[in-house]
Parts: sequence; C-alpha cells; structure tokens
Amino acid sequence: MKTITRQKPFEQILEDISSDTRVFIVGCGTCATLCHTGGVDEVAAMAEKLTVAGKIVTGVAVPPTGCDEVTSEMRFVFRDRLRAADIVLVMSCAFGVQTAATQLKKPVAPALDTLFMGKEGPAGHYSEICMQCGECVLAYTGGICPVTACHKGLLNGPCGGTDNGMCEVGNGRECAWTLIYNRLQSQGRLDRMRQYHPPKSHNAVLRPGILDLTHSREEAAAQ
Ligand code: SF4
Ligand code: SF4
Repeated sequence: MKTITRQKPFEQILEDISSDTRVFIVGCGTCATLCHTGGVDEVAAMAEKLTVAGKIVTGVAVPPTGCDEVTSEMRFVFRDRLRAADIVLVMSCAFGVQTAATQLKKPVAPALDTLFMGKEGPAGHYSEICMQCGECVLAYTGGICPVTACHKGLLNGPCGGTDNGMCEVGNGRECAWTLIYNRLQSQGRLDRMRQYHPPKSHNAVLRPGILDLTHSREEAAAQ
C-alpha cells in the first residue's frame, strides 16, 4: 500500500511560489518515486522547468522516505543550500510536506496533490483500497471493500446497473458487488449478502484523526 499522488499543474505551482525566487526541492524515494511524481527523475525535471521559469534552484534532495525523521538530517547535509532558499518545494505526499515543514524550519509548498492510499495494478494504474471509514465491513463482503471499490460506495449492493460483471459507471471497471457476490459464493457465505447495513456514521471517522490508546489501556489496567 502506498500514498497515491498526482503532480499539480505547473502553473499552479508557480502561483503558489510566486513570491519566492530561490527554491530548494525535496522529493521522496518511496511512494512518490513509485508514482513517478517525486522521484529523482521528476525532481530533476522540476528543477529544469523552474529554472526556465526564472527561479533559482538552490538544491535538490530525494530522501529514502519523505515522511520520516530522516528528513531532519537534510538540515545539516544541505544546510547552506537550504539557507539560501526562500521556500522548499516538496514533491511527496502531504505527510512528507508536513514533515518537511516541521523538520526543515522553512516555508514549504506542495508540488503534488495527495489522492488516496492505494495499490498499483498494471503499470500506471492505481486503485484505492481503504478510505479509513472507521466502520470496517469487510467481514460481510468477502474482504472486498464496497466503500472504495464500488463507484457509488454502496453498502448494500449491487445497484441496478451492474452489467455482466461490469460497472455501469464505465471506465472498464468491474462491478465491486459482483466481485463480492462471487467471492462469498465461493466461500459458501452468500447469506452475508442478505444482511442489511445501515448508512455509515460519519462520526466513526475521527476528525481530527487523534487516538490516545494509552488512556484506554490505563482504564483496563485499573479494572
Ligand atoms: S469498509 Fe471502511 S475501513 Fe473497511 S476497507 Fe472499506 S473503507 Fe476501509
Ligand atoms: S454497477 Fe456495481 S460497482 Fe458500479 S455502482 Fe453499481 S454496484 Fe457499484
């Protein structure tokens, strides 16, 4: 599983850093490299485009992972180049952008939009596998997520549009609920299809996403 990203339009990036002349670029050696949005090649291409657009690229770096503490080491390795920059343009997911903002003590701008957590299929194709809805129903759906795999996110499918196993929405996508049916049938668990699931509670999604497990552990220990 990786974080799927897409590069922002170059005009948008230029607008976001319009008040900054000197730019240090940070990529990511993991997810953004695999998505071809922030690896060594994409960072080099961005440096060239920014230079043509009149910016001064003071330096570039592609740490193994843009979102972990290693990013802080760049402050020392690239100290002078970072100091010379007005802004750090981060070519990683939003986690990496926020890590850079904290660790590098410089203004930051994201060059990518963070889309979803997903997996890679055929080269260049990515699909979401979980949107962290807070109430997992995979026990009833043969381990296939209807929230992300069904175009309508139906908890009680299929809709009337499934056509020979394909989704009416198109894009060559299989109907998630046909896949669920086939999976449950092969497991002898088709009775799960008859179980009604009420609409999802949006309260189940923690916003902000903060969870303190130590509190509940302390309560359990006190009992
Ligand atoms: S039902 Fe919710 S938690 Fe479970 S896989 Fe789907 S999106 Fe993720
Ligand atoms: S055809 Fe299948 S995947 Fe498409 S919206 Fe209907 S139930 Fe969901």
